[in-house]
Amino acid sequence: MKIVFASGNKHKIEEFGAILKKYIPQIEVVSMKDAGISDDIVEDGATFEANAMIKARAVAKYGYIGVADDSGLTVDALGGAPGIYSARYAGEHGNDKKNNQKLLLDMRRIENRAGAFVCTIACAFPENSQYSDFCVRGECEGVILHAEKGEGGFGYDPLFFVEKCGKTYAELSSDEKNEISHRAVATKLFAEKFVNEISDKE
Ligand code: IMP
Repeated sequence: MKIVFASGNKHKIEEFGAILKKYIPQIEVVSMKDAGISDDIVEDGATFEANAMIKARAVAKYGYIGVADDSGLTVDALGGAPGIYSARYAGEHGNDKKNNQKLLLDMRRIENRAGAFVCTIACAFPENSQYSDFCVRGECEGVILHAEKGEGGFGYDPLFFVEKCGKTYAELSSDEKNEISHRAVATKLFAEKFVNEISDKE
């Protein structure tokens, strides 16, 4: 069985494929490029779930099982921001430094520092399939520090302190992060749900 992951991020696709293979050894996860799809997908949904499903469906319309994720940081005191705008919070897509600076600035007078990383993963099946589309959501709770701490990871990692680990995401090794991260939780939920969906209808 082949799944097409709607992302240009090779690392993400490999990581997802490796985890999913533990549950379904015969699964093959390939990129959109491998499947010959070069569509520019407009992510104009209002939620993480909607954006993940837009991407998954964009692939499923070509007759493949489409999978896509959407993730970001939500901060309670900011009404859920940066949320779906996490990658371009400061205006420039993927500028981690500026995004972190803006987050610190926006939170300079805020005492409630609670937040969570969220990862949603959607699965869309080709039209007329016997299977039903679905989306899962994984979260990891934490607090936003007043200054960056730790050298690893990417994005908001140095500002995100996970109390149960006593470390920021940026201080965790990649193995440690892969145990507890929002992405790890969502991937596990996805694998369980996918196996159920497929085996229920076999
Ligand atoms: P994407 O949906 O995985 O591309 O993530 C969107 C944005 O959310 C990224 O550009 C980061 O700003 C933020 N983000 C998502 N996951 C993480 C993470 O594990 N660490 C730090 N930032 C993240």
